[in-house]
Amino acid sequence: MSENRPHVPFMDLAWQWRVIAEAARPDIERTFETSAFCLGPAVEAFERRFADYLGVAYVVGVNSGTSALHLAMIAAGIGPGDAVLLPAHTFVATAWAVLYVGARPVLCDVDEDSGLIDLADAERRCDPTVKAIMPVHLYGRAVDMDAVGAFAARRGLVVIEDAAQAQGAEWRGRRVGGHGYAGCFSFYPGKNLGAAGEAGAIATNDAEAAARMRSLRNHAQGARYVHDELGFNYRMEGLQGVVLGHKLRHLDDWNARRGRIAGLYDEMLAGLPLVRPGRVPGHVWHLYVVRTPERDALKAWLHERGIETGLHYPVPLHRQPCLAGLGHGADEFAVSVRWAEQCLSLPMHPGMADVQVQAVTEAVRGFYGRG
Ligand SMILES: *Cc1c(COP(=O)(O)O)cnc(C)c1O
Repeated sequence: MSENRPHVPFMDLAWQWRVIAEAARPDIERTFETSAFCLGPAVEAFERRFADYLGVAYVVGVNSGTSALHLAMIAAGIGPGDAVLLPAHTFVATAWAVLYVGARPVLCDVDEDSGLIDLADAERRCDPTVKAIMPVHLYGRAVDMDAVGAFAARRGLVVIEDAAQAQGAEWRGRRVGGHGYAGCFSFYPGKNLGAAGEAGAIATNDAEAAARMRSLRNHAQGARYVHDELGFNYRMEGLQGVVLGHKLRHLDDWNARRGRIAGLYDEMLAGLPLVRPGRVPGHVWHLYVVRTPERDALKAWLHERGIETGLHYPVPLHRQPCLAGLGHGADEFAVSVRWAEQCLSLPMHPGMADVQVQAVTEAVRGFYGRG
């Protein structure tokens, strides 16, 4: 191991703070001075600006991506007796939303190349109880929303996008989140657009859905202390509105930088016996995920050399203890299983320097004896 051992973190959120700190400080102070802690003007301003950014009519700010998915399910009228299609290779929260409303998740396998929902498999698993489909724009890469739209129209399904990893990603030049009935975002700190804590939002063009979700997030309070239905405390915090508003100004630049880092990885990893992610227009590179049967050994090798990596995600949904009730065999969803066993997320964040990308790729090349 070399003397000047590099440390390459998986992400660097302090770097993002340094970019916005000077501009954000007065607005953070104003939040305290005016006690605008729950919802408030900064949240409203962020909702309007994010709606413009996405090209949708409404954005409803909430306290997490999971809450966003939950409210979208309720607004779409999904409930007991209904079923919802979603990929087996995703973060578990995609399935939580379906379970929260008492509906049944119908897991689908994913595409070998992209890791995104396999619509041919969705077609096979679709039955008359299925009311909705949740395409997940995993890793920052958009699902083919033309194909999803055509499939949903044919089967009469509601489309709810899980865009938690894809702020700014586009399908055919149109940002994700506005292609269906509702698009759900997470602003968990590590996402491409991240809060200083927990936050999320739902995008929609449906005025009725937006109004219902605004009410639901705030205890279903029509008039003050009059509660129209079962409500929730899913309000976005004022401070998160401030931070998200400032970071949104940089999102396109940061996504472009992610794209350049992905390009460097592509060049410097070329020729090695690992599968690199595909390059498509509109990809915002939330993660740069390579695949190899030697995943665990490569991860350990990189760790020993000061390079942090991640696994997104090592256990597919049909193997999760909480979903054992769905009754799937461990080896069903063969493509999802392969993704789970072989995926390795390399460091990826907009503050990453070229020399850090080089340090990562040199270490990977060393693993394959091509240093
Ligand atoms: C992060 C994430 C969520 C959940 O968002 P939270 O803000 O953590 O609740 C949902 N789906 C996917 C695909 C995610 O990556």
